[in-house]
Amino acid sequence: MADNPALSAACERADRVVLLYVHAPDEEGDWPPGAASRWWLHRSLARLSADLLGRGAELHLRRGPSLEALLAVVRATGADCVYWNRLYEPALAERDTQVESALRATGIEVESCNAAMLVEPASVATRDGRPYRVFTPYWRACLPRLEEQPRILPPPRRITAAQLPTPGPTLDELGLAPTIRWDAGLDAAWTPGEAGALTRLEVFCDAILGGYADSRERPDLDGTSRLSPHLHFGEIGPRQCLAAARNARAGRAGRQAGFDAFVRELGWREFAHHVLHHHPHTTNAPLDPRFAGFAWDPDPRLLAAWQRGRTGFPLVDAGMQQLWTTGWMHNRVRMIVASLLTKNLRQHWLEGARWFWDTLVDADLASNTLGWQWVAGCGADAAPYFRIFNPLPQAARHDPDGAYARRWLQAQDSPQQSPIVDLRASRAAALDAYSRLGR
Ligand SMILES: Cc1cc2nc3c(=O)[nH]c(=O)nc-3n(C[C@H](O)[C@H](O)[C@H](O)COP(=O)(O)OP(=O)(O)OC[C@H]3O[C@@H](n4cnc5c(N)ncnc54)[C@H](O)[C@@H]3O)c2cc1C
Repeated sequence: MADNPALSAACERADRVVLLYVHAPDEEGDWPPGAASRWWLHRSLARLSADLLGRGAELHLRRGPSLEALLAVVRATGADCVYWNRLYEPALAERDTQVESALRATGIEVESCNAAMLVEPASVATRDGRPYRVFTPYWRACLPRLEEQPRILPPPRRITAAQLPTPGPTLDELGLAPTIRWDAGLDAAWTPGEAGALTRLEVFCDAILGGYADSRERPDLDGTSRLSPHLHFGEIGPRQCLAAARNARAGRAGRQAGFDAFVRELGWREFAHHVLHHHPHTTNAPLDPRFAGFAWDPDPRLLAAWQRGRTGFPLVDAGMQQLWTTGWMHNRVRMIVASLLTKNLRQHWLEGARWFWDTLVDADLASNTLGWQWVAGCGADAAPYFRIFNPLPQAARHDPDGAYARRWLQAQDSPQQSPIVDLRASRAAALDAYSRLGR
C-alpha cells in the first residue's frame, strides 16, 4: 500500500473508495499469465486482501471485461472518479486507453498514475526524437531523472471503503491456484505480498548490496535481490528500491560499486519497457528483421530435453531444475540456458520465451522479450551473434565449486546423462546459419 499513487490519490480525494481488482486475462493478448504467475497472483491477492481487511477495508473482485466491470461498479456506487496505476504491456496499455475514453464519455473522471517506472517508457528519446536501441546511451539519458523522483508515498493514513451491493467471485473462484499441488517448491521459496517484498528489500540492502557488484554473477550464492516478482506484480516499486539502496549506501564508501550495479540493473528493467513500448511487435517477432528468415531447426525432442533439464550440461540442467522447482532462475544461468537453446540446439527463441513465461514467477513481457532476443542476438543491444556461451567454462567461472549445480541436480530423479549436443560442432553450425542471414 506504500508508494501506490492511485490508492493515495483516491483516498485523499474521496470520502469513500471502492478497492477493486478486475481479473481479465484474455485482455492480455497472446500472453495471459502463465501457471507460475497465476500462483503468485493468487497469493499476492490473498495477502493484499488480508492487509486491507486489517485496516477495515475490503478488496472487491470482479471478472472482466474490465470496462463492463468498472461501469457496473460505477453505477452501483455512484462513483465519480476512477483511479489506477498504469500498465505498459502493449495489449494492456491499449485496453486502458479504450477504458479511459469510454469512462470519460459517460462523464466519469479518470486519473491514471505511474507506480511502476522510474522513467516512463515514452518519456525519453534520442536527440532526434527516436527511441533508444542501445542500453548505455539510454541509461545515460535517464540518470538525471533519478535525481528528480517524486517522494515515496506512505500507505494512506485512512481508507474508508465503500460496500458493493452484490458480491463478486471469491479469490478461489478466479481459479488462479493450482488444482493439482505442484507448488511446494514455490511456497518454500517465496513470500508474495508487500510485507514479503519489503522484508526482502531490507535483507538485500543490509546484507547483499555491499558485495552485489561481484555476487550478482554467482548463482551459488544468495547474491541478488530476488525482487523481480515483487516488482512485476507491483507489490513494491522501483522508487522504493532506489531510495532504500541510497539509504544503505549513505556513509558507507564500500557500497558504491554495489549500489551502481544494482541501479544499472533496475535500468535494464526500464530499458526493456522502453523497447517494448516502441516496438510492440517484438513479443512475437525479432526486433532485427533479418532474423525473421533465420534457419531455426525445430526439434521437439531437443526442446523437451532442455525444458526438463536433461541436456547433460550440469549448469544448464541445474538452472532448469531451479526454475521448475522455485519459479526463478539466476540471471547468469538464464543467459547460459537461453544460449544453449537458441544457438547450440538452434530452437526458436520464442519456444524458450514461452517456457519461461509459464514457469517464471517473475515472467514479465518486457524483460522476458528483451532477455530472449538479447541472447538470441536478434533484439535491442543484442549480444553479437557469435557470442555463444559455453556452459562448461561459464560453470567454472560462475559456480566455481559446483555447489549450485550439485544442489539442483540432486533434486532431479535420474542421474546426469551425457550431453545431447556437441558444443563445438553445433557452434560452427549456428555460426554458419548466421552467416547466411546476410549483413
Ligand atoms: C532469457 C532471459 C529472460 C528473462 N526474463 C525475465 C522476466 O521474465 N522477468 C524479469 O523480471 N526479468 C527477466 N530477465 C532478467 C533477469 O534475469 C531478472 O530480472 C533477474 O534475474 C531477477 O533476479 P533479481 O531480482 O535477483 O535481480 P537483481 O540482480 O537483484 O536485479 C534487480 C532488479 O533489476 C531488474 N533486472 C535485473 N536484470 C535485468 C535484466 N537483464 N532485464 C530486465 N530487468 C532486469 C529486475 O527487476 C530485478 O529484480 C530475463 C533475462 C534473460 C537472460
